[in-house]
Amino acid sequence: MRRIKSKDTKPEKTVRSIAHSLGLRFRLHDKSLPGSPDLVFKRYKRIIFVHGCFWHNHDSQICKRNHISKTNKKYWSEKIEKNQERDKKILEILLSMGWFVLVIWECETSDCEKIKAKLQSFFDQ
Ligand SMILES: [Zn+2]
Repeated sequence: MRRIKSKDTKPEKTVRSIAHSLGLRFRLHDKSLPGSPDLVFKRYKRIIFVHGCFWHNHDSQICKRNHISKTNKKYWSEKIEKNQERDKKILEILLSMGWFVLVIWECETSDCEKIKAKLQSFFDQ
């Protein structure tokens, strides 16, 4: 059984340590913001979400980690659809508040160089 989104997952730790290595300061799981984003960079008005591929329904065309198990397919699809709707709403609210938002997928975090490049271009915007 997969875990529901929990704090301090490995992908999150990877993103954090890369952000650190770039000299960026951030808050974790800021509950004062919608969706209590994983990493919040107040000074830069930037937010990063680290999404688990399964729970947040990463596009299965590009992602090999996002498989819905054949048993209880309906149950999982409904759950995940709800998550996705929630993600969308949260994103809209944050954007309307003037935040820049970046989503990093679990499956991307195996490539540290790629994440580093992503962060750099996100903060260069
Ligand atoms: Zn993925």
